[in-house]
Amino acid sequence: MQRKPLPPEMDLFRDAARRFFQTEIGPHSERWRAAGIVDREAYRKAGAAGFLCIWADESYGGLGLDDFRYEQILIEENAAHGDSGFLMSLHSRLVAPYFRHFGTAEQQRRFIPHFVSGEKILAIAMTEPDAGSDLAGIKTRAEDKGDYWLLNGAKTYISNGILADVVIVAARTHPDNPHGLTLFIVERGMEGFERGRMLKKMGMKSQDTAELFFRDVKIPKENVLGAVHGGFYHLMKGLVEERLIAACGNIAAARVAMELTKAFVRQRKVFGKPLSKMQNTRFKLAALDAEIEIAQTFVDRCVEEHNEGRLSAEDAARAKLYTSELNGRMVDEGVQLHGGAGYMEEYRICRLYEDERIHRILAGTSEIMKEIIARSILD
Ligand SMILES: Cc1cc2nc3c(=O)[nH]c(=O)nc-3n(C[C@H](O)[C@H](O)[C@H](O)COP(=O)(O)OP(=O)(O)OC[C@H]3O[C@@H](n4cnc5c(N)ncnc54)[C@H](O)[C@@H]3O)c2cc1C
Repeated sequence: MQRKPLPPEMDLFRDAARRFFQTEIGPHSERWRAAGIVDREAYRKAGAAGFLCIWADESYGGLGLDDFRYEQILIEENAAHGDSGFLMSLHSRLVAPYFRHFGTAEQQRRFIPHFVSGEKILAIAMTEPDAGSDLAGIKTRAEDKGDYWLLNGAKTYISNGILADVVIVAARTHPDNPHGLTLFIVERGMEGFERGRMLKKMGMKSQDTAELFFRDVKIPKENVLGAVHGGFYHLMKGLVEERLIAACGNIAAARVAMELTKAFVRQRKVFGKPLSKMQNTRFKLAALDAEIEIAQTFVDRCVEEHNEGRLSAEDAARAKLYTSELNGRMVDEGVQLHGGAGYMEEYRICRLYEDERIHRILAGTSEIMKEIIARSILD
């Protein structure tokens, strides 16, 4: 089914984005994967091209374009032509908006222009060794010392953990209330803020995932982001958009895997005829194609709802759950239909397979998505 046509300016935006990913991101993928990290320069180039935090006000250097379809275009073009470790949307649309929604005017003036230009790279640190799905288990704590907050604890699995110049850290500030968290702006160079190992992963090889440590870090009062003890609720609001971003990425990756697989089965000959003529191939790909088309329609509808300010947590969970599981089936079948070639790094389907697995875990696991949906239909 044809997707709803976009206004002409969005088609032009897509063309520009495609050229950017084809020339500035995709060609570096192999090198970044080997290094386990992307070049900082990639963010500056994306900033210079006007692709970071495009929602930001023009006075901060942004384009003032709040329509989520622009971000969806960037996600899709990155999936098709860029690199899975270049987490532009994490920077622009997942972390930076915390400053927009909960930051003071002074914090916005101080930070947002640097996020738009790509000079400062962002991360968000919620997960800890003993607290992932259950954020109420966070042990990193901050004590109010009058002039400043004293932050102590450790975070793990943090995306952009090495590259990040500014990290939003969720810490416990209320010992008795399990939801008594506050968000803190931790900056590169603050005494006592250290980075641990760059973690070796199954996929998303060019993305720096790291441990972070905070030992008696003095956080100035002006670096509290949002309400004191209000962090849990700020995170819950942010997670709806995070899941929409994930859904857009999952369905875009599934489409890429489908295209690669179609191209492969058309040219691969088995038992004297193209693999695409075997009934097994046809049925498998037809079933996945139907799922992808239907899922895309739902995701596009979620984008519309989000633009109208009323995407529910349940619908974001449905989109994230379904697209991540669907992408899992798509890349698995894609590898199978590639045969041995599918297991070889030089075939892109192999990389898509490795990259896919995390998406049933990141941004809330499939089980947590089911919990959110179940609560909305049963309780
Ligand atoms: C590559 C990568 C990048 C990441 N980036 C970030 C980042 O930038 N910032 C950040 O803060 N975190 C990040 N994470 C962490 C990620 O969000 C967590 O790994 C995820 O939320 C799951 O938490 P966990 O690993 O503690 O698993 P757990 O929560 O311990 O889950 C283990 C299993 O238990 C299941 N489970 C948990 N609760 C329930 C329940 N109520 N009912 C049924 N089953 C349940 C889960 O679904 C899962 O199958 C990243 C992780 C990875 C691997």
